[in-house]
Amino acid sequence: NEPLAERPGFLGRLFKRPAAPSAPRRVLDDAMLESLEELLIQSDMGVDTALRVAANLAEGRMGRKLSVPEIKDLLAGEVARIMEPVAKPMPLYKTKPQVVLVVGVNGSGKTTTIGKLASQFRAAGKKVVIAAGDTFRAAAVEQLQVWGERAGVPVMTAPEGSDPASLAFDAMTKAQAEGADLLMIDTAGRLQNRQDLMEELAKIVRVIRKKDPDAPHNTLLVLDATTGQNALSQVDIFRKIADVSGLVMTKLDGTAKGGVLVALADKFGLPIHAIGVGEQIDDLSPFDPEEFARALVG
Ligand code: GDP
Repeated sequence: NEPLAERPGFLGRLFKRPAAPSAPRRVLDDAMLESLEELLIQSDMGVDTALRVAANLAEGRMGRKLSVPEIKDLLAGEVARIMEPVAKPMPLYKTKPQVVLVVGVNGSGKTTTIGKLASQFRAAGKKVVIAAGDTFRAAAVEQLQVWGERAGVPVMTAPEGSDPASLAFDAMTKAQAEGADLLMIDTAGRLQNRQDLMEELAKIVRVIRKKDPDAPHNTLLVLDATTGQNALSQVDIFRKIADVSGLVMTKLDGTAKGGVLVALADKFGLPIHAIGVGEQIDDLSPFDPEEFARALVG
């Protein structure tokens, strides 16, 4: 996989030739600002965020002559400034088990992310249990079992079509009895029937709270970065049906323009706990705002 920092950023399209520090300077005028705004919008940042980033960059600098590297530095700085407050790893608590509810639409990378996280926590010496709470998709359960094996973490399952809340309760009982540090609960991602999903998630929460009134301690929303602006509406929806505490952005290794992360940070301010950068078990990285900003600007 191509490391994030080596992906060509969107500014490459504005400045066709490779930019050397000695490259000629351009006057930051209205036309230049407009091109910048356009590129920022195209990077999936969304109109509001793009205009704000461009305005911040332009403030006090209109009419100045700037070289391409200078503009890139300024832009990367603006992006990093928006991203820094949301770059936070998932908090770990002493509570046993710390319950992590994982939500997101099907295909966003929930299963993969649970596997990667389980592997990381296990490597850090934590005892982890996974509950395959998407009991309606047999394939999802099987897939999670494969990831559990890879990560060396037990996966609790229930018969197809059975009540996910009852599985969550059993998993909680097992995790408590075994003194597990973390219980990660996968959930269904059928947004087609939002009411059902909402009730299902609410029931899982209600049931695990019988065992620990503070659970779940984290509700992670997994978002596919390649869905662009769609990710924004997914946050909107999931915040209505679950108490989302943090995000994991997947598929940032692909051709994702990634600008949607800036829009998400700007609009919701939810912590970004980690980013998925590939399909393998180690392809989950902490979110680094500086590196991200550099990669985005190119
Ligand atoms: P779920 O339906 O939300 O559980 O999604 P899955 O975990 O099954 O992932 C859906 C697809 O996305 C699979 O083919 C994964 O291999 C792939 N995937 C998940 N995370 C990443 C990532 O960070 N990068 C890439 N390239 N693919 C990913």
